[in-house]
Amino acid sequence: MVQTVSVIGAGTMGNGIAHVFAQSGYPVTLIDVNAAQLDKAIQTISKNLDRQLSKGSITEEQKNAALANITVNTDVAAGVKNAQLVVEAATENTELKLKIFRQLDEAAPAGCILSTNTSSISITKIAAVTKRPELVIGMHFMNPVPVMKLVEIINGYATKKEVTDTIVELSKNLGKVPCVVNDYPGFIANRILMPMINEAIYSLYEGVAGVEEIDTVMKLGMAHPMGPLQLADFIGLDVCLAILKVLHDGFGNPKYAPCPLLVNMVTAGKLGVKAGEGFYVYTAGSKEMVVSERFR
Ligand code: NAD
Repeated sequence: MVQTVSVIGAGTMGNGIAHVFAQSGYPVTLIDVNAAQLDKAIQTISKNLDRQLSKGSITEEQKNAALANITVNTDVAAGVKNAQLVVEAATENTELKLKIFRQLDEAAPAGCILSTNTSSISITKIAAVTKRPELVIGMHFMNPVPVMKLVEIINGYATKKEVTDTIVELSKNLGKVPCVVNDYPGFIANRILMPMINEAIYSLYEGVAGVEEIDTVMKLGMAHPMGPLQLADFIGLDVCLAILKVLHDGFGNPKYAPCPLLVNMVTAGKLGVKAGEGFYVYTAGSKEMVVSERFR
C-alpha cells in the first residue's frame, strides 16, 4: 500500500500531480532543483484550490488540509528517502530522466515504486537504468491534472503485475480513471493525438483551410472541446515536435514525419501559449486569443 509520495519536478504537471495526491490525503514531498519553481508551484496549487473552494467543490478545511500535506525540497535524494511511490515529472529529456532514475534507484527505499509522467520516452528504457525495472511504470497524467480524469498507466517490458494493480487502485483513490497500456512509442494517447495534430498542421501548410476553419471543423464536426491547432498551442509546439520525432524514430514510418511548418515554428520560437504565440496570439492574464497575423 502506498502512503507517502514524492513528486519530482514542480512545473506544469508536477504541481498538478502534487495537488491531486495532497487533496486525496497523501503526504507529498514536491521536489525541484529550482527553488523559485517550488514557490511558484505552491502559489499555483493554492490558487487552484481557491478556485475549487469558490465553486463549492471543496471546503476551507479540505483546502488547508491539502496544503498541509505538501512539503518541498530542492534535494532529490533527501526528498525521496521515505517515499513508497515517486512520480517523476521533470523536463521531457531522455538523458535527464535517465540521470534522475539512476539517482532515484540509489536514494529511494527498496520496494519504492518509481513512476514517470513522461509523454513519450520509453518506460522500458528508463527502467533499464535501475536495478528494479519490475518496479518502474508509466503514470501519465493529463493537463490540467486536477481537472482531467484520465491516467494512462504504461507497463514497461519488466513491470510486475502487482505494481500495475497498485497503481490502478491508487489512481482510482485519486478520483481518476486509469487505463493500462503497453510500452510502445507514444503509448496510446500521443500515438493517436499527435498524428491528428500533425495532419491539421499539414492541412494549414498545404493551404487546404485556415486556422479557424480547421479548428471549427474538428470542434463542431467531431465534438472536440478544442480544435487541434489550439490544442497544439496549449501543449506546446516544441513538445508536439519532440513526440512526433519519437513516433517517427520508434516506428521508422514516414507517416509520422513532422510537418515542416511545425519544425519552422519551433525553430522560430513560436511555441504556443507559453511563448504568447503559436497558431494563435495570446495575451497574458486573458482568455482572448486571435489567429496569428502569419496565418490571416
Ligand atoms: P515543465 O517544464 O513545466 O516542468 C519541469 C520541471 O522539472 C521544472 O520545474 C524543472 O525545474 C524541473 N526539473 C528539471 N530537472 C530536474 C531535476 N533534475 N530534478 C528535479 N526537477 C527538475 O514541464 P511539464 O510540462 O510539467 O512536463 C513534465 C513532464 O510531464 C514531462 O515528462 C512531460 O512530457 C510530461 N507531460 C506534460 C504534459 C503537458 O501538457 N505539459 C502532459 C502530460 C505529460
